[in-house]
Amino acid sequence: MMLQTPIPLPETADTRLAETPRDWLARYGGDSPVLLVCPEALSARHDRFRHGFPGEVTYAVKANPDPGVIGQLAAGGMRGFDVASPAEMTLLRGLCPKAVLHYHNPVRSRAEIRAGIAAGVASWSVDDMGELDKLSACGVAPGTEVAVRVKLPVAGAAYDFGTKFGAAPDLALALLTRATALGLRVSMTFHVGTQCADPDAWTAYMAACDGLARAAAVRLARLNVGGGFPSGRDGAEPELAPIFAAIGRAHAAFDGAPALVCEPGRALVADAMVYAVPIKARRGAALYLADGTYGGLSECPSIGVPRVDLIAHDHRAPEATMPFTLFGPTCDSLDRLPGQTCLPGCAQEGDWLLFRSAGAYLVGVTTCFNGYGTYEKGLVSRLWTDPARPLG
Ligand SMILES: *Cc1c(COP(=O)(O)O)cnc(C)c1O
Repeated sequence: MMLQTPIPLPETADTRLAETPRDWLARYGGDSPVLLVCPEALSARHDRFRHGFPGEVTYAVKANPDPGVIGQLAAGGMRGFDVASPAEMTLLRGLCPKAVLHYHNPVRSRAEIRAGIAAGVASWSVDDMGELDKLSACGVAPGTEVAVRVKLPVAGAAYDFGTKFGAAPDLALALLTRATALGLRVSMTFHVGTQCADPDAWTAYMAACDGLARAAAVRLARLNVGGGFPSGRDGAEPELAPIFAAIGRAHAAFDGAPALVCEPGRALVADAMVYAVPIKARRGAALYLADGTYGGLSECPSIGVPRVDLIAHDHRAPEATMPFTLFGPTCDSLDRLPGQTCLPGCAQEGDWLLFRSAGAYLVGVTTCFNGYGTYEKGLVSRLWTDPARPLG
Protein backbone atom coordinates (compact mmCIF):
# COMPACT_ATOMS: atom_id res chain seq x y z
CA MET A 1 0.00 0.00 0.00
CA MET A 2 1.49 3.35 -1.01
CA LEU A 3 -0.94 5.78 0.55
CA GLN A 4 0.42 6.71 3.95
CA THR A 5 -0.70 10.36 4.05
CA PRO A 6 -1.37 11.25 7.66
CA ILE A 7 -4.48 13.32 8.33
CA PRO A 8 -3.22 16.62 9.80
CA LEU A 9 -4.64 17.30 13.24
CA PRO A 10 -3.98 20.03 15.80
CA GLU A 11 -1.64 19.39 18.69
CA THR A 12 -2.90 19.69 22.22
CA ALA A 13 -0.70 22.44 23.64
CA ASP A 14 -2.26 22.48 27.08
CA THR A 15 -3.20 19.01 28.28
CA ARG A 16 -4.35 20.08 31.74
CA LEU A 17 -8.01 19.40 32.30
CA ALA A 18 -10.06 22.49 33.23
CA GLU A 19 -13.48 22.14 34.78
CA THR A 20 -15.42 24.21 32.23
CA PRO A 21 -14.77 26.13 29.00
CA ARG A 22 -14.85 29.34 31.03
CA ASP A 23 -12.14 28.02 33.37
CA TRP A 24 -9.99 26.93 30.44
CA LEU A 25 -10.28 30.32 28.74
CA ALA A 26 -9.64 32.19 32.00
CA ARG A 27 -6.15 30.73 32.24
CA TYR A 28 -5.45 30.93 28.50
CA GLY A 29 -3.50 33.97 27.43
CA GLY A 30 -3.69 33.44 23.67
CA ASP A 31 -6.03 34.65 20.99
CA SER A 32 -6.37 31.56 18.77
CA PRO A 33 -9.72 29.78 18.55
CA VAL A 34 -9.86 26.76 20.88
CA LEU A 35 -11.63 23.45 20.38
CA LEU A 36 -12.63 22.38 23.87
CA VAL A 37 -13.06 18.64 24.23
CA CYS A 38 -15.01 16.94 27.02
CA PRO A 39 -14.03 13.23 27.14
CA GLU A 40 -16.81 12.52 29.63
CA ALA A 41 -19.44 13.85 27.25
CA LEU A 42 -18.04 11.63 24.50
CA SER A 43 -18.27 8.55 26.74
CA ALA A 44 -21.79 9.48 27.81
CA ARG A 45 -22.97 9.75 24.21
CA HIS A 46 -21.23 6.51 23.26
CA ASP A 47 -23.07 4.84 26.17
CA ARG A 48 -26.40 6.19 24.93
CA PHE A 49 -25.82 4.52 21.59
CA ARG A 50 -24.45 1.30 23.09
CA HIS A 51 -27.39 0.89 25.47
CA GLY A 52 -30.07 2.44 23.25
CA PHE A 53 -29.44 1.27 19.70
CA PRO A 54 -30.82 -2.25 19.08
CA GLY A 55 -27.74 -3.53 17.23
CA GLU A 56 -24.03 -2.92 16.67
CA VAL A 57 -22.73 0.66 16.78
CA THR A 58 -19.85 1.59 14.47
CA TYR A 59 -18.27 5.02 14.01
CA ALA A 60 -18.06 7.06 10.78
CA VAL A 61 -14.48 8.32 11.07
CA LYS A 62 -14.88 11.33 8.79
CA ALA A 63 -17.00 13.12 11.42
CA ASN A 64 -13.88 13.52 13.58
CA PRO A 65 -10.64 11.64 12.81
CA ASP A 66 -8.82 12.87 15.95
CA PRO A 67 -6.76 9.94 17.32
CA GLY A 68 -7.89 10.87 20.83
CA VAL A 69 -11.54 10.47 19.82
CA ILE A 70 -10.94 7.19 17.98
CA GLY A 71 -8.85 5.86 20.86
CA GLN A 72 -11.49 6.76 23.42
CA LEU A 73 -14.30 5.15 21.41
CA ALA A 74 -12.18 2.01 20.93
CA ALA A 75 -11.43 1.92 24.67
CA GLY A 76 -15.18 2.13 25.25
CA GLY A 77 -15.76 -0.99 23.16
CA MET A 78 -16.17 0.35 19.61
CA ARG A 79 -14.94 -2.32 17.18
CA GLY A 80 -16.28 -1.23 13.78
CA PHE A 81 -15.37 1.92 11.88
CA ASP A 82 -16.71 3.34 8.62
CA VAL A 83 -13.71 4.59 6.66
CA ALA A 84 -13.97 6.39 3.33
CA SER A 85 -10.40 6.53 2.03
CA PRO A 86 -7.04 4.73 2.24
CA ALA A 87 -5.73 7.53 4.49
CA GLU A 88 -8.52 6.84 6.99
CA MET A 89 -7.72 3.11 6.83
CA THR A 90 -4.05 3.82 7.57
CA LEU A 91 -5.07 6.03 10.47
CA LEU A 92 -7.34 3.32 11.92
CA ARG A 93 -4.89 0.47 11.41
CA GLY A 94 -2.21 2.55 13.18
CA LEU A 95 -4.48 3.27 16.16
CA CYS A 96 -6.50 0.04 16.45
CA PRO A 97 -4.91 -2.81 14.48
CA LYS A 98 -7.88 -5.10 15.20
CA ALA A 99 -10.60 -2.65 14.15
CA VAL A 100 -13.24 -3.94 11.72
CA LEU A 101 -13.24 -1.59 8.72
CA HIS A 102 -16.33 -0.83 6.64
CA TYR A 103 -15.46 0.97 3.41
CA HIS A 104 -18.80 2.64 2.77
CA ASN A 105 -17.79 5.30 0.30
CA PRO A 106 -19.44 3.73 -2.76
CA VAL A 107 -17.17 5.30 -5.38
CA ARG A 108 -13.56 4.03 -5.37
CA SER A 109 -10.68 3.97 -7.80
CA ARG A 110 -9.09 0.59 -8.50
CA ALA A 111 -6.03 1.66 -6.47
CA GLU A 112 -8.32 2.51 -3.57
CA ILE A 113 -10.04 -0.89 -3.81
CA ARG A 114 -6.66 -2.64 -3.72
CA ALA A 115 -5.67 -0.51 -0.70
CA GLY A 116 -8.93 -1.57 0.96
CA ILE A 117 -8.26 -5.25 0.33
CA ALA A 118 -4.72 -4.85 1.71
CA ALA A 119 -6.14 -3.13 4.82
CA GLY A 120 -8.56 -6.05 5.34
CA VAL A 121 -11.83 -4.19 4.73
CA ALA A 122 -14.75 -6.31 6.01
CA SER A 123 -17.67 -4.60 4.26
CA TRP A 124 -18.06 -2.57 1.07
CA SER A 125 -21.08 -0.52 0.02
CA VAL A 126 -22.23 -0.42 -3.63
CA ASP A 127 -24.75 1.75 -5.44
CA ASP A 128 -23.79 1.08 -9.07
CA MET A 129 -23.38 -1.98 -11.29
CA GLY A 130 -20.01 -0.81 -12.64
CA GLU A 131 -18.67 -0.33 -9.10
CA LEU A 132 -19.86 -3.82 -8.11
CA ASP A 133 -18.09 -5.38 -11.09
CA LYS A 134 -14.99 -3.30 -10.29
CA LEU A 135 -14.90 -4.81 -6.77
CA SER A 136 -14.94 -8.35 -8.22
CA ALA A 137 -12.40 -7.49 -10.92
CA CYS A 138 -10.03 -6.08 -8.29
CA GLY A 139 -10.22 -9.25 -6.23
CA VAL A 140 -12.89 -8.73 -3.57
CA ALA A 141 -13.56 -12.41 -2.85
CA PRO A 142 -16.89 -14.27 -2.75
CA GLY A 143 -18.17 -14.42 0.83
CA THR A 144 -17.13 -10.80 1.50
CA GLU A 145 -19.89 -8.50 2.75
CA VAL A 146 -21.27 -6.06 0.19
CA ALA A 147 -23.98 -3.65 1.33
CA VAL A 148 -26.29 -2.35 -1.38
CA ARG A 149 -26.93 1.32 -0.68
CA VAL A 150 -30.42 2.45 -1.57
CA LYS A 151 -31.80 5.98 -1.82
CA LEU A 152 -35.36 7.21 -1.43
CA PRO A 153 -36.91 10.66 -1.72
CA VAL A 154 -37.15 11.00 2.08
CA ALA A 155 -37.16 14.38 3.84
CA GLY A 156 -36.25 15.22 7.44
CA ALA A 157 -32.49 15.76 7.36
CA ALA A 158 -30.45 18.96 7.28
CA TYR A 159 -29.70 18.25 3.65
CA ASP A 160 -30.31 15.44 1.19
CA PHE A 161 -27.60 12.76 0.97
CA GLY A 162 -29.41 10.99 -1.88
CA THR A 163 -28.28 13.49 -4.51
CA LYS A 164 -24.76 12.04 -4.50
CA PHE A 165 -24.88 8.38 -3.46
CA GLY A 166 -27.39 5.57 -3.38
CA ALA A 167 -29.18 3.40 -5.94
CA ALA A 168 -32.83 4.05 -6.75
CA PRO A 169 -35.01 1.03 -5.80
CA ASP A 170 -34.96 -0.60 -9.29
CA LEU A 171 -31.19 -0.50 -9.44
CA ALA A 172 -30.89 -1.63 -5.82
CA LEU A 173 -32.97 -4.70 -6.71
CA ALA A 174 -30.65 -5.51 -9.64
CA LEU A 175 -27.61 -5.02 -7.41
CA LEU A 176 -29.01 -7.42 -4.78
CA THR A 177 -29.51 -10.06 -7.47
CA ARG A 178 -26.09 -9.57 -9.03
CA ALA A 179 -24.21 -9.48 -5.71
CA THR A 180 -25.94 -12.75 -4.74
CA ALA A 181 -24.93 -14.31 -8.08
CA LEU A 182 -21.32 -13.27 -7.42
CA GLY A 183 -21.40 -15.22 -4.15
CA LEU A 184 -21.01 -12.13 -1.98
CA ARG A 185 -22.46 -11.82 1.52
CA VAL A 186 -25.31 -9.43 0.79
CA SER A 187 -26.45 -6.67 3.13
CA MET A 188 -28.24 -3.37 2.64
CA THR A 189 -27.53 0.15 3.81
CA PHE A 190 -28.75 3.73 3.45
CA HIS A 191 -28.11 7.18 4.86
CA VAL A 192 -31.17 9.26 5.75
CA GLY A 193 -29.16 12.51 5.53
CA THR A 194 -27.22 14.19 8.29
CA GLN A 195 -28.76 15.82 11.42
CA CYS A 196 -32.08 14.03 10.81
CA ALA A 197 -34.50 14.25 13.74
CA ASP A 198 -37.41 12.37 12.14
CA PRO A 199 -37.75 8.67 13.17
CA ASP A 200 -40.01 8.09 10.15
CA ALA A 201 -37.03 8.62 7.82
CA TRP A 202 -35.44 5.42 9.18
CA THR A 203 -38.69 3.44 9.16
CA ALA A 204 -39.41 4.44 5.54
CA TYR A 205 -35.95 3.26 4.50
CA MET A 206 -36.19 0.04 6.50
CA ALA A 207 -39.56 -0.81 4.97
CA ALA A 208 -38.10 -0.20 1.50
CA CYS A 209 -35.10 -2.44 2.25
CA ASP A 210 -37.44 -5.18 3.50
CA GLY A 211 -39.53 -4.94 0.32
CA LEU A 212 -36.48 -5.00 -1.96
CA ALA A 213 -34.88 -7.97 -0.19
CA ARG A 214 -38.18 -9.90 -0.46
CA ALA A 215 -38.54 -8.97 -4.14
CA ALA A 216 -34.99 -10.16 -4.84
CA ALA A 217 -35.57 -13.27 -2.68
CA VAL A 218 -32.36 -12.45 -0.81
CA ARG A 219 -31.91 -13.08 2.88
CA LEU A 220 -29.84 -10.11 4.06
CA ALA A 221 -26.84 -10.79 6.29
CA ARG A 222 -27.08 -7.37 7.92
CA LEU A 223 -29.00 -4.12 7.68
CA ASN A 224 -26.87 -1.01 8.23
CA VAL A 225 -29.13 1.94 9.02
CA GLY A 226 -26.31 4.43 8.45
CA GLY A 227 -25.63 7.67 10.26
CA GLY A 228 -27.67 10.85 10.21
CA PHE A 229 -28.67 10.82 13.91
CA PRO A 230 -29.04 14.36 15.26
CA SER A 231 -26.77 16.27 17.63
CA GLY A 232 -27.89 19.04 19.98
CA ARG A 233 -27.00 21.96 17.73
CA ASP A 234 -29.77 24.08 19.20
CA GLY A 235 -28.50 23.49 22.73
CA ALA A 236 -31.13 20.89 23.72
CA GLU A 237 -30.38 17.18 24.19
CA PRO A 238 -31.06 15.43 20.87
CA GLU A 239 -33.99 13.01 20.89
CA LEU A 240 -32.29 9.73 20.09
CA ALA A 241 -34.60 7.38 22.03
CA PRO A 242 -37.62 7.78 19.67
CA ILE A 243 -35.34 7.04 16.70
CA PHE A 244 -33.90 3.93 18.36
CA ALA A 245 -37.43 2.78 19.24
CA ALA A 246 -38.69 3.29 15.67
CA ILE A 247 -35.70 1.34 14.32
CA GLY A 248 -36.40 -1.47 16.79
CA ARG A 249 -40.07 -1.67 15.72
CA ALA A 250 -39.22 -1.66 12.02
CA HIS A 251 -36.61 -4.35 12.66
CA ALA A 252 -39.14 -6.59 14.40
CA ALA A 253 -41.32 -6.48 11.26
CA PHE A 254 -38.37 -7.20 8.95
CA ASP A 255 -38.25 -10.49 7.04
CA GLY A 256 -35.49 -12.74 8.40
CA ALA A 257 -34.42 -10.15 11.03
CA PRO A 258 -30.93 -9.36 9.67
CA ALA A 259 -28.41 -8.15 12.29
CA LEU A 260 -28.68 -4.38 12.72
CA VAL A 261 -25.72 -2.00 12.43
CA CYS A 262 -25.55 1.78 12.57
CA GLU A 263 -22.66 4.07 11.68
CA PRO A 264 -23.23 7.47 13.30
CA GLY A 265 -20.65 10.20 12.96
CA ARG A 266 -22.12 13.50 14.07
CA ALA A 267 -24.36 12.26 16.91
CA LEU A 268 -21.51 10.41 18.63
CA VAL A 269 -18.97 13.22 18.65
CA ALA A 270 -20.56 16.63 18.01
CA ASP A 271 -21.88 17.37 21.49
CA ALA A 272 -18.61 16.38 23.17
CA MET A 273 -16.93 19.61 22.05
CA VAL A 274 -17.47 23.35 21.85
CA TYR A 275 -15.54 25.75 19.68
CA ALA A 276 -14.41 28.94 21.42
CA VAL A 277 -13.74 31.75 18.97
CA PRO A 278 -12.52 35.22 20.05
CA ILE A 279 -14.09 38.42 18.77
CA LYS A 280 -11.40 40.48 17.02
CA ALA A 281 -13.45 43.61 16.46
CA ARG A 282 -16.96 44.99 16.72
CA ARG A 283 -18.42 47.49 14.25
CA GLY A 284 -22.00 48.37 15.15
CA ALA A 285 -24.00 45.16 14.91
CA ALA A 286 -21.21 43.28 13.13
CA LEU A 287 -18.69 41.06 14.92
CA TYR A 288 -15.41 40.06 13.25
CA LEU A 289 -14.31 36.64 14.53
CA ALA A 290 -10.98 34.82 14.57
CA ASP A 291 -12.47 31.94 12.54
CA GLY A 292 -15.23 31.56 9.98
CA THR A 293 -16.60 29.53 7.12
CA TYR A 294 -13.20 28.51 5.73
CA GLY A 295 -12.23 27.15 9.14
CA GLY A 296 -14.08 25.47 11.96
CA LEU A 297 -17.44 27.04 11.10
CA SER A 298 -17.60 25.63 7.58
CA GLU A 299 -20.89 23.79 8.15
CA CYS A 300 -22.84 26.92 9.07
CA PRO A 301 -23.72 27.94 5.47
CA SER A 302 -25.17 24.49 4.73
CA ILE A 303 -26.89 23.52 7.99
CA GLY A 304 -27.14 26.78 9.93
CA VAL A 305 -25.46 28.33 12.95
CA PRO A 306 -25.61 26.20 16.12
CA ARG A 307 -26.41 27.70 19.51
CA VAL A 308 -23.81 30.32 20.40
CA ASP A 309 -23.08 31.66 23.90
CA LEU A 310 -21.03 34.74 24.75
CA ILE A 311 -18.34 34.72 27.42
CA ALA A 312 -17.38 38.30 28.31
CA HIS A 313 -13.70 38.81 29.05
CA ASP A 314 -14.37 41.14 32.00
CA HIS A 315 -17.08 41.77 34.57
CA ARG A 316 -19.59 43.56 32.39
CA ALA A 317 -23.22 43.17 33.41
CA PRO A 318 -25.08 40.98 30.90
CA GLU A 319 -27.33 42.95 28.54
CA ALA A 320 -30.43 42.08 26.54
CA THR A 321 -29.72 40.23 23.32
CA MET A 322 -29.70 41.77 19.86
CA PRO A 323 -29.04 40.33 16.38
CA PHE A 324 -25.45 40.41 15.12
CA THR A 325 -23.87 39.65 11.78
CA LEU A 326 -20.87 37.35 12.24
CA PHE A 327 -17.92 37.65 9.87
CA GLY A 328 -14.92 35.31 9.59
CA PRO A 329 -11.32 36.57 9.50
CA THR A 330 -10.42 36.13 5.81
CA CYS A 331 -10.62 38.87 3.18
CA ASP A 332 -13.35 37.02 1.28
CA SER A 333 -16.76 38.65 1.61
CA LEU A 334 -18.38 35.18 1.49
CA ASP A 335 -16.70 34.47 4.83
CA ARG A 336 -19.75 35.29 6.92
CA LEU A 337 -22.15 33.10 8.86
CA PRO A 338 -25.68 32.90 7.45
CA GLY A 339 -28.46 35.12 8.82
CA GLN A 340 -28.04 36.90 12.10
CA THR A 341 -27.16 35.55 15.52
CA CYS A 342 -28.69 36.86 18.74
CA LEU A 343 -26.11 37.66 21.42
CA PRO A 344 -25.95 39.98 24.44
CA GLY A 345 -25.74 43.59 23.21
CA CYS A 346 -22.56 44.14 25.25
CA ALA A 347 -20.48 41.80 23.00
CA GLN A 348 -17.10 43.37 22.29
CA GLU A 349 -13.50 42.80 21.26
CA GLY A 350 -11.75 40.24 23.44
CA ASP A 351 -14.93 38.33 24.31
CA TRP A 352 -15.39 34.70 23.28
CA LEU A 353 -18.19 33.02 21.37
CA LEU A 354 -18.82 29.38 22.26
CA PHE A 355 -20.27 27.40 19.33
CA ARG A 356 -21.98 24.19 20.43
CA SER A 357 -21.88 20.76 18.81
CA ALA A 358 -18.42 21.47 17.40
CA GLY A 359 -17.11 17.91 17.68
CA ALA A 360 -18.30 16.86 14.22
CA TYR A 361 -17.09 18.08 10.83
CA LEU A 362 -14.59 20.56 12.24
CA VAL A 363 -11.47 18.44 12.82
CA GLY A 364 -10.13 17.57 9.38
CA VAL A 365 -12.34 20.07 7.57
CA THR A 366 -10.66 23.43 8.25
CA THR A 367 -8.63 25.09 5.50
CA CYS A 368 -5.64 27.43 5.90
CA PHE A 369 -7.10 29.96 3.42
CA ASN A 370 -5.62 33.43 3.90
CA GLY A 371 -3.35 32.10 6.64
CA TYR A 372 -6.16 31.29 9.10
CA GLY A 373 -7.69 28.00 10.21
CA THR A 374 -5.34 26.99 13.02
CA TYR A 375 -6.72 26.45 16.48
CA GLU A 376 -5.72 25.14 19.90
CA LYS A 377 -7.22 22.15 21.59
CA GLY A 378 -8.10 22.00 25.30
CA LEU A 379 -9.68 19.50 27.68
CA VAL A 380 -12.60 20.20 30.00
CA SER A 381 -14.46 17.98 32.44
CA ARG A 382 -17.87 19.46 31.66
CA LEU A 383 -19.11 21.69 28.89
CA TRP A 384 -21.69 24.01 30.42
CA THR A 385 -21.83 26.67 33.07
CA ASP A 386 -23.98 29.72 33.43
CA PRO A 387 -23.21 31.60 30.21
CA ALA A 388 -24.02 34.95 31.84
CA ARG A 389 -21.07 34.67 34.25
CA PRO A 390 -18.01 36.58 33.01
CA LEU A 391 -14.49 35.20 32.60
CA GLY A 392 -11.93 35.30 35.40
C1 LIG B 1 -20.80 10.52 6.66
C2 LIG B 1 -21.30 9.15 6.73
C3 LIG B 1 -21.86 8.67 7.92
C4 LIG B 1 -22.05 9.53 9.14
O1 LIG B 1 -23.03 10.50 8.95
P1 LIG B 1 -23.51 11.45 10.16
O2 LIG B 1 -24.60 12.26 9.56
O3 LIG B 1 -22.34 12.22 10.59
O4 LIG B 1 -24.00 10.54 11.24
C5 LIG B 1 -22.27 7.36 7.96
N1 LIG B 1 -22.17 6.56 6.88
C6 LIG B 1 -21.63 6.98 5.71
C7 LIG B 1 -21.53 6.04 4.57
C8 LIG B 1 -21.20 8.29 5.59
O5 LIG B 1 -20.68 8.73 4.44
